[in-house]
Amino acid sequence: MNTVLVNSERCIGCKHCEIACAIEHSLSKDLFSMLSEEVISKPRIHVEVGKDLLTFPNKCRHCNPAPCMEVCPTYAISRDEKTESVLVDPAKCIACSMCAIACPFGVITFEKTYTVRRSVNVKCDNCIDRQKEGKKPACVEACKTGTLTFGDVNDLIRERRKEVTKIVTKTLKDQMNPKYL
Ligand code: SF4
Ligand code: SF4
Repeated sequence: MNTVLVNSERCIGCKHCEIACAIEHSLSKDLFSMLSEEVISKPRIHVEVGKDLLTFPNKCRHCNPAPCMEVCPTYAISRDEKTESVLVDPAKCIACSMCAIACPFGVITFEKTYTVRRSVNVKCDNCIDRQKEGKKPACVEACKTGTLTFGDVNDLIRERRKEVTKIVTKTLKDQMNPKYL
């Protein structure tokens, strides 16, 4: 399963991912044209500031099973069979906010979209259209610090494990008494 993995310690809070997401989900898919569109596109990834001014890009995890999908009374939320992404059909959304209550990560917001022109569940769709073209999600492409990576979840975790091992072994080596080296 392909996913976006967040290496939060690398995030500098530049919000490039948010801007790229808003552009990708706009009518024109162009920054300057987007700003004059009747319905201004909003990001589906949210960079929030936490303890000690550290930042964290928060987005839908495409859980399986997905609590948001299970509580939606109009079946507006479904899973794409091929990519396993959890998707919203804005035409079916009645903005009851049951999904937002059920989501444990607080990543569902309600915004007008150019497709239905009323407030509906606006959340990450894993840039499914870009994926069909063999591209990475827009947020991942825009992030220049390596905070956001996209690929097979186990491959990404394996890479992360290697990085952690390097850090831990270096720390241990630095702290060891030289007489034992
Ligand atoms: S919106 Fe929340 S509950 Fe639904 S799939 Fe995404 S993270 Fe999971
Ligand atoms: S707000 Fe929309 S997507 Fe969410 S539960 Fe209600 S109908 Fe479903």
